[in-house]
Amino acid sequence: MAKGLMNEFSANDLNLQEFFTCCRRHGLKITPQRTEVYKILLGSADHPSAETVYQRAREILPNISLDTVNRTLATLVRIGAAFMVEGCGDVKRFDADMRNHQHFKCVSCKRIIDFSYKPFENVEVPAELSRRFKVLRAMVYVEGLCEACQASENQ
Ligand SMILES: [Zn+2]
Ligand SMILES: [Zn+2]
Repeated sequence: MAKGLMNEFSANDLNLQEFFTCCRRHGLKITPQRTEVYKILLGSADHPSAETVYQRAREILPNISLDTVNRTLATLVRIGAAFMVEGCGDVKRFDADMRNHQHFKCVSCKRIIDFSYKPFENVEVPAELSRRFKVLRAMVYVEGLCEACQASENQ
Protein backbone atom coordinates (compact mmCIF):
# COMPACT_ATOMS: atom_id res chain seq x y z
CA MET A 1 0.00 0.00 0.00
CA ALA A 2 1.28 3.44 -0.89
CA LYS A 3 2.57 5.52 1.98
CA GLY A 4 2.24 9.26 2.19
CA LEU A 5 5.00 11.62 3.25
CA MET A 6 3.93 11.77 6.86
CA ASN A 7 1.55 8.88 7.06
CA GLU A 8 3.43 6.15 8.81
CA PHE A 9 0.65 4.83 10.97
CA SER A 10 -1.83 2.05 10.31
CA ALA A 11 -5.19 1.21 11.79
CA ASN A 12 -4.46 0.89 15.47
CA ASP A 13 -6.57 0.06 18.49
CA LEU A 14 -6.76 3.65 19.63
CA ASN A 15 -8.30 4.84 16.37
CA LEU A 16 -10.66 1.90 16.36
CA GLN A 17 -11.84 2.60 19.90
CA GLU A 18 -12.48 6.23 18.95
CA PHE A 19 -14.36 5.05 15.90
CA PHE A 20 -16.57 2.73 17.98
CA THR A 21 -17.28 5.59 20.39
CA CYS A 22 -18.14 7.83 17.44
CA CYS A 23 -20.56 5.20 16.05
CA ARG A 24 -22.28 4.76 19.41
CA ARG A 25 -22.62 8.52 19.83
CA HIS A 26 -24.45 8.61 16.50
CA GLY A 27 -26.60 5.61 17.39
CA LEU A 28 -24.98 3.42 14.75
CA LYS A 29 -24.49 -0.30 15.08
CA ILE A 30 -20.90 -1.49 14.86
CA THR A 31 -21.10 -3.96 11.98
CA PRO A 32 -18.20 -5.97 10.49
CA GLN A 33 -18.70 -4.04 7.22
CA ARG A 34 -18.44 -0.63 8.89
CA THR A 35 -15.43 -1.69 10.91
CA GLU A 36 -13.65 -3.17 7.89
CA VAL A 37 -14.31 -0.19 5.60
CA TYR A 38 -13.06 2.15 8.30
CA LYS A 39 -9.93 0.04 8.94
CA ILE A 40 -9.14 -0.06 5.22
CA LEU A 41 -9.51 3.68 4.89
CA LEU A 42 -7.41 4.28 7.97
CA GLY A 43 -4.70 1.99 6.68
CA SER A 44 -4.64 3.53 3.18
CA ALA A 45 -2.42 6.55 2.63
CA ASP A 46 -3.48 6.87 -1.02
CA HIS A 47 -6.89 8.48 -0.42
CA PRO A 48 -8.76 5.67 -2.17
CA SER A 49 -11.97 5.97 -4.15
CA ALA A 50 -15.04 3.92 -3.14
CA GLU A 51 -14.14 1.45 -5.88
CA THR A 52 -10.62 0.97 -4.48
CA VAL A 53 -11.94 0.55 -0.93
CA TYR A 54 -14.37 -2.01 -2.33
CA GLN A 55 -11.55 -3.99 -3.99
CA ARG A 56 -9.60 -4.03 -0.73
CA ALA A 57 -12.67 -4.89 1.38
CA ARG A 58 -13.56 -7.84 -0.84
CA GLU A 59 -10.30 -9.54 0.12
CA ILE A 60 -11.52 -9.66 3.72
CA LEU A 61 -15.31 -9.71 3.27
CA PRO A 62 -15.91 -11.48 -0.07
CA ASN A 63 -19.67 -10.80 0.03
CA ILE A 64 -19.53 -7.06 0.58
CA SER A 65 -21.13 -5.02 -2.23
CA LEU A 66 -19.96 -1.77 -3.80
CA ASP A 67 -23.26 -0.27 -2.71
CA THR A 68 -22.55 -1.15 0.93
CA VAL A 69 -19.07 0.37 0.63
CA ASN A 70 -20.54 3.56 -0.89
CA ARG A 71 -23.14 3.86 1.84
CA THR A 72 -20.60 3.11 4.56
CA LEU A 73 -18.21 5.78 3.26
CA ALA A 74 -21.06 8.31 3.20
CA THR A 75 -21.83 7.35 6.81
CA LEU A 76 -18.19 7.77 7.86
CA VAL A 77 -18.18 11.26 6.36
CA ARG A 78 -21.49 12.12 8.05
CA ILE A 79 -20.30 11.12 11.53
CA GLY A 80 -16.93 12.86 11.06
CA ALA A 81 -14.76 9.72 10.99
CA ALA A 82 -13.53 10.48 7.46
CA PHE A 83 -13.81 13.23 4.91
CA MET A 84 -14.09 13.61 1.19
CA VAL A 85 -10.97 14.90 -0.49
CA GLU A 86 -11.53 18.12 -2.39
CA GLY A 87 -10.81 18.89 -6.02
CA CYS A 88 -10.59 15.38 -7.35
CA GLY A 89 -12.82 15.54 -10.37
CA ASP A 90 -15.76 13.22 -10.65
CA VAL A 91 -14.51 10.25 -8.62
CA LYS A 92 -14.84 10.88 -4.90
CA ARG A 93 -11.79 10.08 -2.83
CA PHE A 94 -11.74 9.53 0.92
CA ASP A 95 -9.42 10.09 3.87
CA ALA A 96 -9.78 8.86 7.46
CA ASP A 97 -6.73 10.75 8.68
CA MET A 98 -8.42 13.52 10.63
CA ARG A 99 -5.14 15.01 11.86
CA ASN A 100 -4.18 18.40 10.53
CA HIS A 101 -2.51 17.80 7.17
CA GLN A 102 -2.56 19.11 3.62
CA HIS A 103 -2.80 17.56 0.18
CA PHE A 104 -0.75 17.72 -2.96
CA LYS A 105 -2.60 16.38 -5.94
CA CYS A 106 -0.91 15.34 -9.16
CA VAL A 107 -3.17 16.54 -11.98
CA SER A 108 -1.76 13.88 -14.31
CA CYS A 109 -1.80 10.58 -12.38
CA LYS A 110 -4.33 11.81 -9.75
CA ARG A 111 -2.13 10.74 -6.86
CA ILE A 112 -2.98 12.57 -3.63
CA ILE A 113 0.02 12.97 -1.39
CA ASP A 114 -0.18 14.08 2.24
CA PHE A 115 2.13 16.74 3.48
CA SER A 116 2.50 18.69 6.65
CA TYR A 117 3.52 22.33 6.76
CA LYS A 118 3.07 24.33 9.95
CA PRO A 119 2.12 27.70 8.37
CA PHE A 120 -0.78 25.99 6.59
CA GLU A 121 -2.16 24.44 9.74
CA ASN A 122 -4.17 27.33 11.07
CA VAL A 123 -5.66 28.71 7.91
CA GLU A 124 -7.91 31.60 8.86
CA VAL A 125 -11.47 31.24 7.68
CA PRO A 126 -13.14 34.61 6.91
CA ALA A 127 -15.61 35.51 9.66
CA GLU A 128 -18.34 36.05 7.08
CA LEU A 129 -17.94 32.47 5.97
CA SER A 130 -18.03 30.97 9.44
CA ARG A 131 -21.10 33.04 10.24
CA ARG A 132 -22.98 31.74 7.23
CA PHE A 133 -21.74 28.17 7.17
CA LYS A 134 -20.81 25.48 9.61
CA VAL A 135 -17.13 25.11 8.71
CA LEU A 136 -15.91 21.55 9.19
CA ARG A 137 -12.35 21.89 7.96
CA ALA A 138 -10.08 24.26 6.11
CA MET A 139 -7.17 22.73 4.24
CA VAL A 140 -4.55 24.00 1.86
CA TYR A 141 -4.62 22.14 -1.37
CA VAL A 142 -1.73 22.24 -3.81
CA GLU A 143 -1.83 20.77 -7.28
CA GLY A 144 0.79 20.12 -9.91
CA LEU A 145 2.85 17.29 -11.34
CA CYS A 146 4.48 14.62 -9.19
CA GLU A 147 8.11 13.56 -9.75
CA ALA A 148 7.14 10.55 -11.87
CA CYS A 149 4.86 12.58 -14.12
CA GLN A 150 7.45 15.35 -14.53
CA ALA A 151 9.98 12.73 -15.58
CA SER A 152 7.68 11.26 -18.20
CA GLU A 153 6.80 14.76 -19.52
CA ASN A 154 10.48 15.52 -20.05
CA GLN A 155 11.09 12.47 -22.18
ZN1 LIG B 1 1.76 12.12 -11.15
ZN1 LIG C 1 -4.78 13.04 3.45
